[in-house]
Amino acid sequence: MKSKVAVIPCQGYDEFKVNEAIKKGISLLGGWESFVKPEEKILLKPNLLNRADVERAVTTHPAVFRAVARNLLDNGYLNVTYGDSPGHPGSVEKTAEACGIKAVADDLQIALADFAQSKTIDYVHGRTSRRFEISQGVLDSDAIINICKMKTHQLERITGAVKNMFGCVHGIHKGAAHVKYPDAESFAKMLIDLNFYLKPRLHIMDGIVAMEGNGPASGNPVNMNVILMSGDPVALDSTFCRLVNLNPAEVPTVYYGSIYGLGNWENDKIEIVGVDDLIYYCNPKFDVAREKKYSGKWAVIGRLASVEKRPVILKKKCIRCGACIRACPLEEKALYFPETSGSTKPRIAEKGVPVYNYKKCIKCYCCQEMCPERAIVVKRKFIPFI
Ligand code: SF4
Ligand code: SF4
Repeated sequence: MKSKVAVIPCQGYDEFKVNEAIKKGISLLGGWESFVKPEEKILLKPNLLNRADVERAVTTHPAVFRAVARNLLDNGYLNVTYGDSPGHPGSVEKTAEACGIKAVADDLQIALADFAQSKTIDYVHGRTSRRFEISQGVLDSDAIINICKMKTHQLERITGAVKNMFGCVHGIHKGAAHVKYPDAESFAKMLIDLNFYLKPRLHIMDGIVAMEGNGPASGNPVNMNVILMSGDPVALDSTFCRLVNLNPAEVPTVYYGSIYGLGNWENDKIEIVGVDDLIYYCNPKFDVAREKKYSGKWAVIGRLASVEKRPVILKKKCIRCGACIRACPLEEKALYFPETSGSTKPRIAEKGVPVYNYKKCIKCYCCQEMCPERAIVVKRKFIPFI
């Protein structure tokens, strides 16, 4: 059976236009009743990665959140909460406030779900992960509506519907998951188990202004002018890939999501509704990692040297705040202030920016995600064999 993906053009975050786009998308997918029941407790799960300004396209735009919530309420779905577990330590509420989501929720009288407490759950059907620490607010809900953001990601190439569910994992346990599943493949497989366990009903991607380049927190906003909606997270992420000229099979969450039966990524198994031809909405120059691991020039270089991606700090941008060190999930941090040999709190007299110990670093890029100054980039390092 084909998976349906609604691609709804929407230029800008004007409240009326976004509202109409969400209405059109949900109608093309069969109405809210195809996904949720009025008596169910519905959790809206936006992307609240950090406290970045809305214009930086790090988090789900409040206008999209408002349109989804407003539409649900107008259609008699009154038991609605929201929440996410941000990357920054501290309260969800403060992050939601900084991102403009809390103001919308307060206006619509939607309560924040309990993301302060959590419970360990065993998931016996997991292929890669059979245990998760899930926020209580997620467990208290009957149905999740995933409101993700169209962005690039250093580990998984893109972060979309499948990856956004990681925010249901509670606080510091996200860091532990990075340590346990350090490479893109194992991390993707864990995410797929998580999606199978949580079974979000509907995925809505804010792709009006997306993030390209050094995502998911330090990239550049780019107008894509679309909202994507689907019950199938793999098909939705695969459609995002097509819009930006990225082979979906190169994205681990899409590839393994299809292999393990979470959804469809192949063209002939996806029905696009809402637009006649996807090609008019494509941005082939979208800045995203498209290369195969060792194809093209990398294949030649790969024969002569080991090619390794790793995080690098741009000294001129770094303000020595230490957020990157605190974000590192390793017990023995893989980056530190040189003067303090391991401290996460710089003294005023200190001059140096954090330095990496690449032998310890597992390349999870949590440091890059949490840098408030966009001072961490991912570069390739050539290590000659001879
Ligand atoms: S988080 Fe960014 S700005 Fe802060 S110390 Fe690390 S690299 Fe520098
Ligand atoms: S230094 Fe950065 S990329 Fe390396 S393990 Fe720590 S957080 Fe991950």
